[in-house]
Amino acid sequence: MIQVEKETGKNFEHSMDSFVHKVDTVRERAANLQQRADELSSPQVDIKSAALEELHSALEELHVAEEELRAQNEELAIARAVAEAERQRYQELFEFAPDGYLVTDDVGIIKEANRAVASLFKISQQKIIGKPLANFVPIEERRCFRAKLNQLHQLDLTQEWELQLCNREGATFDAAVTISTIHDWEGKVIGWRWLVRDITVRKQTEAQIRNIQLQNLQLQEAARLKSHFLAIMSHELRSPMNAIIGFSQLLLRYPHTSLAPKQENMVQRILNSGRHLLTLIDEILDFSKLEAGRLELKLQELNLAEVVTATVEEMLSLAEQKNLTMEVKLDLHNPVIFNDKTRLRQVLVNLLSNAIKFTEDGGVQIEVREVAENKIAIAVKDTGIGIAESDLGHIFEEFRQGNQTLTREHGGTGLGLAITNRLVNVMQGKITVESNLDQGTTFSVEIPRQVVPQKFRSFDA
Ligand code: ADP
Repeated sequence: MIQVEKETGKNFEHSMDSFVHKVDTVRERAANLQQRADELSSPQVDIKSAALEELHSALEELHVAEEELRAQNEELAIARAVAEAERQRYQELFEFAPDGYLVTDDVGIIKEANRAVASLFKISQQKIIGKPLANFVPIEERRCFRAKLNQLHQLDLTQEWELQLCNREGATFDAAVTISTIHDWEGKVIGWRWLVRDITVRKQTEAQIRNIQLQNLQLQEAARLKSHFLAIMSHELRSPMNAIIGFSQLLLRYPHTSLAPKQENMVQRILNSGRHLLTLIDEILDFSKLEAGRLELKLQELNLAEVVTATVEEMLSLAEQKNLTMEVKLDLHNPVIFNDKTRLRQVLVNLLSNAIKFTEDGGVQIEVREVAENKIAIAVKDTGIGIAESDLGHIFEEFRQGNQTLTREHGGTGLGLAITNRLVNVMQGKITVESNLDQGTTFSVEIPRQVVPQKFRSFDA
């Protein structure tokens, strides 16, 4: 096509030159004739002279036409230069495009190919021309490829089509092709333009994502089964534990049982261990429910001041055993809040019992106040052993205990704070901790005055 354009241009220039040459020759001959007529003097000469005059003016007209032709020729040359520059630009775009471009005829023979496609097929640009595109399709896929080619005659444009291609060395890769049809001036299909992209990396990433999703599902299922198992086990363990605790209490209280002091001590130990074990079972049960997102709050209107005072009173004897002071500071204009009484009490008990457990001198203080709009802040402060900075970041993780030797001395599972943290989260609040070693610790809980029931909450709430 480009070649044809060049040829036409050359021919045009050639005919233009010969036209100009001919006009010049005729003009020269006319001038000669004019000169010879001037030298003669007869009536015939007048006729000749008139004819020559006529010829002259015809020549002038020809001259004007020649000028016009020249001007048109110049315009054409400029237009040709512009078209050539455009063609060059598109050729470069085609050539250096990062994606592979091919042009095939209507039976799939490659007519043009850019660098990207040649390097994709590991073949030189010259050698790829004239080869059937099917050569770069793995043998087992060729039948399907040909069927698709046949379909292309009916379809004008296809959507992205994913298929396996192979390079000249036989290595296959996943490719995505987009095809557009080339028609001749009568609308007949004469070939296709192919955009070919290597999507091996994309495919691998998709496979990895699918794998991760599968693993994720398996993990979720495993976590669900674990929680279910824990919930059932904890439930099953509670019944015998209740029997152990109940009968130990009976043995100690029964007026006719005359237990020897040693035996009484043993039963008391059974009772203490039984209670401890029951607490652990409850913690595990709570944690498994929280982890599975199955813990639902039983929301109700309650008086926060009353809940705090009652909880502190329950804990008072524990503090007294260690000669610790217990102080309550309530700064509430309106003590009515909307929350789960049992779970809120559980949060307070966990924080207060830890404060007492890890304090040897001084005391524990609980401060409750209203902050911002509709927010309540509860701070539990102690003057105890404090928490090392390195432990502070992990303190709310399950089974984490600071200073393991102390833990053994104080017992506990390392689940208390993890449960507290999750409970506060379920209450749409947050918990933070500040501590200095040997000086004390402050746990601060911030909860909304009104906890919104789960079913009314949006996902991002
Ligand atoms: P545990 O059942 O072991 O008490 P928790 O989750 O309640 O588990 O606490 C985890 C760890 O955090 C404790 O073992 C302790 O090291 C530390 N900790 C919690 N509260 C306090 C506190 N008030 N003072 C010092 N250390 C604390």
